[in-house]
Amino acid sequence: MSDSVVIVGGGLGASRLAENLRGNQFAAPITILSAEEYLPYDRPPLSKVTLTDDAARVDLKPAEFYIDADIDVRLGARVVSVDTADRHVVVETLDGERSPVPYGTLVLATGLRPRTFPGEGGDLAGVHVIRTFDDAVALREEIGGARTAVVIGAGFIGCEAAASLIKRGLDVSVVEPAPTPLAAALGPVIGQFVARLHTEAGVKMTTGVGVTRLLGTDGRVSAAELDDGTVLETDLVVVGIGGYPDLTYLDGSDIELADRATGGGIACDHLGHTSAPNVFAIGDAANWADAHGDRHRVEHWNHTVEQAVTVAAEIEEHALPAPTVPYFWSDQYDLKVQLLGSPRPDDEVHVVDDDGRKFLAYYSRDGILTGVVGAGRVGKLMKTRPHLLTETPIADLLG
Ligand SMILES: Cc1cc2nc3c(=O)[nH]c(=O)nc-3n(C[C@H](O)[C@H](O)[C@H](O)COP(=O)(O)OP(=O)(O)OC[C@H]3O[C@@H](n4cnc5c(N)ncnc54)[C@H](O)[C@@H]3O)c2cc1C
Repeated sequence: MSDSVVIVGGGLGASRLAENLRGNQFAAPITILSAEEYLPYDRPPLSKVTLTDDAARVDLKPAEFYIDADIDVRLGARVVSVDTADRHVVVETLDGERSPVPYGTLVLATGLRPRTFPGEGGDLAGVHVIRTFDDAVALREEIGGARTAVVIGAGFIGCEAAASLIKRGLDVSVVEPAPTPLAAALGPVIGQFVARLHTEAGVKMTTGVGVTRLLGTDGRVSAAELDDGTVLETDLVVVGIGGYPDLTYLDGSDIELADRATGGGIACDHLGHTSAPNVFAIGDAANWADAHGDRHRVEHWNHTVEQAVTVAAEIEEHALPAPTVPYFWSDQYDLKVQLLGSPRPDDEVHVVDDDGRKFLAYYSRDGILTGVVGAGRVGKLMKTRPHLLTETPIADLLG
């Protein structure tokens, strides 16, 4: 058992890992080093209720939890380097002071940085990303004074932002270079179903076209120019084009990074061990191997929570949890869009329920069920979970 656990990062992974360790009676010191000035908070609400409700709460645990559980949370403490030979990290505080923090076991849970608009105009006022609580509040504060918004990118965060902005009464355009929203995650057939939800709600969905530049007036965004020459006048822009793990703090350490082709991030085995002894990684920044040795970097809430359970068990030398089915959800309008399993976008799609808005569909590859996706079909979708724990022929479900 470890003599002390230091967790780098102050989000979902960090909080859940500390909670799991203490929940299992782990008695050694636990320190969370977080670059943020807030206690660990939840990110899913940031593109949803935080944009529509001023009173929405996002904290994962109240301050008393960390005090009662004797978890030392240091805020405004950014880790700038890791020395695995001497087993310490160097922390930089907000006033620029640097000091070493020794560790027995180190867990890296540093999440992602959002990609900003790479073209001209990306730095204009009124252009927003949504990764942190401050990002979401900055956007929310501008929605009241705006009439129109352009959302760049129809991934999950772009789609959720569009739904929230429409709810706040804005005239919303989404611009996405792929043929449908969510095409990379769910494939084009289900992407069309998601597009339908948005157009029905009044969103102007423009696909197959990118944004070339953002135009401004007096330093503030006023329009987005698309690569087909269209100019969309707008008061606000939300950039939802993904994120990347910022791992500059690992420069010079011997902790291996994963190949970009597999999503990059910190290379880990199937239990979260990195290449350095007593160093683990979890969450959006971690790239775990699966049972077949294939690598994946996954940016889903549930995935992070399950990795925290696994790494807590590894640190405590406890039995590992039973395997689970990958799960993701996204709230858009009044519907929960959910995905079980790990389908590829080019898997065969079998739509088994479609009422023109809500739907349920199976994915298969080589005749075997690989995933289930639904919108507004929570009960039916969850009932399929056992079929994804074993190799289920798709014919068994369709027959
Ligand atoms: C707007 C939004 C909506 C989402 N909605 C959903 C959803 O509906 N469903 C779903 O399944 N998932 C959703 N997700 C994804 C989910 O929130 C993430 O998978 C989860 O937060 C990952 O947890 P993490 O601990 O890896 O990273 P994070 O929660 O991002 O935490 C990382 C922390 O590390 C800190 N940090 C970074 N570098 C350093 C450093 N060098 N030193 C110290 N601290 C550092 C950061 O400041 C941050 O506090 C959403 C994400 C976002 C941004």
